[in-house]
Amino acid sequence: MKRMNQSLKNWTVLAFALSLAACGGSESTDTAESTIESAADTVTETVDDAVDTATEAADGAVDAASDMMDDAADAVADAVDETVDAADDAMDAAHSTMDSAADAVDDAAGALAGAAAAPPADDGDPCTLNITAGDNIAYSTNELSVPSSCTNVTVTLTHTGNLPKIAMGHNWVLAAAGDADAVAAAGTGAGVDGNYLPAGDERIIAATELVGGGESSSVTFALSKLKSGTDYVYVCSFPGHWTIMKGTFTVTG
Ligand code: ZN
Repeated sequence: MKRMNQSLKNWTVLAFALSLAACGGSESTDTAESTIESAADTVTETVDDAVDTATEAADGAVDAASDMMDDAADAVADAVDETVDAADDAMDAAHSTMDSAADAVDDAAGALAGAAAAPPADDGDPCTLNITAGDNIAYSTNELSVPSSCTNVTVTLTHTGNLPKIAMGHNWVLAAAGDADAVAAAGTGAGVDGNYLPAGDERIIAATELVGGGESSSVTFALSKLKSGTDYVYVCSFPGHWTIMKGTFTVTG
């Protein structure tokens, strides 16, 4: 404001000098010229000052703009850091979710394993038989029969209990009624790994694997291996089981 007042004053002096020059004589003309020069110098200086001031202001503006750019850059960097942190958190959350999903899958797999211990549904095929045994020494049935029209017979034994086969193993062994106990007794020395059966014994018509809790085993055999006029039984050859776990196997029709 002070500078502007100075400027107005200078222009007033200049205007006065010009008016003198316009209406004065030669003497006053010299004086007016001198005054005009002086006023012109003052104006020039004033303009120079104004330019300096503008330059300083521009520098200041540039500095301010530079500071603002720095601040903006800092803000962007901070925002990026925050975004990265947020992304890290999201990744952690995603991993946690994945762990939960994996646990759920494990649970589902466990449920499926448990479901696998249930005997297969009866498919209506009379040549396909299902039998179960649990943590006690007993079959689910002591009578099985198939029609003579079957070419092959499949028997599936499912252990619906929880005990391991070394403690409460079960199998399903088909033999002539007169051979069954002897075959089972002969298998005692074979142990769990040998399915408690004498290897290669031709008296064994059919036999599943020894199974423990949650496991099942199937065996398929040709019905032509059974002779008419002979009684057949199935037993579990696990030591001590065959006297109790025994059923009759008949061919009908
Ligand atoms: Zn058994």
